Amino acid sequence: MPVQRSRLAALIDRERAAYRANHARSAAAFDSSASHLLGGVPMTWMGMWSGGFPLYLESAAGARLTDIDGHTYVDFCLGDTAAMAGHSPRAVQETVTRRYCDLGGATTMLPTEDADWVAAELTRRFGATSWSFTLTATDANRWAIRMARQLTGRPKILVFSYCYHGSVDESFIVATPDGPRSRVGNVGPPVDPRETTRVCEFNDAAALERELAHGDVAAVLMEPALTNIGIVLPEAGYLDTVRALTRAHGSLLINDETHTFSAGAGGCTGAWGLAPDLVTIGKSIAGGIPAGAYGLSAELAERILADPAADIVDTGGVGGTLAGNALSVAAMRATLEHVLTEAAFARMTSVASRYTAGVRGAIASHDLPWNIVQLGARAEYRFSPQPPRTGAESAAVADTELDEYLHLYLVNRGFLLTPFHNMALMCPDTTEADADAHTGTFAAACAELAG
Ligand code: PMP
Repeated sequence: MPVQRSRLAALIDRERAAYRANHARSAAAFDSSASHLLGGVPMTWMGMWSGGFPLYLESAAGARLTDIDGHTYVDFCLGDTAAMAGHSPRAVQETVTRRYCDLGGATTMLPTEDADWVAAELTRRFGATSWSFTLTATDANRWAIRMARQLTGRPKILVFSYCYHGSVDESFIVATPDGPRSRVGNVGPPVDPRETTRVCEFNDAAALERELAHGDVAAVLMEPALTNIGIVLPEAGYLDTVRALTRAHGSLLINDETHTFSAGAGGCTGAWGLAPDLVTIGKSIAGGIPAGAYGLSAELAERILADPAADIVDTGGVGGTLAGNALSVAAMRATLEHVLTEAAFARMTSVASRYTAGVRGAIASHDLPWNIVQLGARAEYRFSPQPPRTGAESAAVADTELDEYLHLYLVNRGFLLTPFHNMALMCPDTTEADADAHTGTFAAACAELAG
């Protein structure tokens, strides 16, 4: 049954008024920041929360977060995956305190023994054998791209339409029926991304082959499932085709597992037995402390180290003064060893399945033309009867009014979803009761909408 827009508009007004009334301190904090902070917030995207102003954080623990007005939420946003380990897990707290306070030396230019443990663990999970660290997933992708260009001597990378890989200049491009174009609103691109990048739709093997056939693509940078335009899962056999085509055309394959890490302890790469040449990851791997990593296959590592034209030590631009710092590396070790373990992923996935089943049931019982897709510990609903097959299909069914209604309805009743989408993520502390409580509230939101 299609949604009645007039009913939706009235419900949004009601929920906005309740949001403002219940969050007076957050509203006041936002109003008073306008003159000092660009856009009134520490990062301009923080202004995108529904309701016209963001909640201001007071405290957070595990799967829960409390705002400065004293409301506590079940946090399904989890820092858009950066807090997938839960907020301030005990093992990371202890390790960070020890490193920063007891031992000292958060950042010194010296390696610590933890780094080798972390790299070996990343190899066990993701396959790539030689790892280097960054502070963000964006930087991991930027370095992986540089390595790929150097290794292949080719200028371009290929991405999928409506991908997101961080603020990587090359990736702000979409495919359209009239050819590729820069993403609308891209800020200050160094060059037109058509000069650096080829783009096609996800799940379209023929388009990928056509683009790779130009012979100028150093690497395909991809999420094994798109997660930044809803969740778009690969069709059966598609990822095998991507691997075969990249090999056939001499392009490297980079799996960005920053979000798809939700699929399991080794991300989609581990869960689906994929064989990329490079793997990148960031956000959650240090339990909320900034850290990222990229890993190369042994063969590529040997080649880049032996390349006389590649100065990967000094002037070659492999930067990041704080990358690989003792604090980040210790936090990565604690997170991987004690928090985001195989057992934790099994629990998180099971809670996510329960969440997904609950949402799917509510959608069906109110006859709404929506779908929900799960990827391990993550699930997201989208406003089309069937899950989209491509980024463009998924972009076409975006509905900012429905987003705002559902986000506000949930936040006003104690549940936080990721802004800009309807993503819900489970951490090791999210319980079945949390998923069920969400289902009840989501179903009530659907009932009011259906009338
Ligand atoms: N890769 C993917 C798949 C992402 O979703 C994101 C951020 N949403 C990034 C990379 C960049 O992460 P960061 O902003 O922490 O650098």
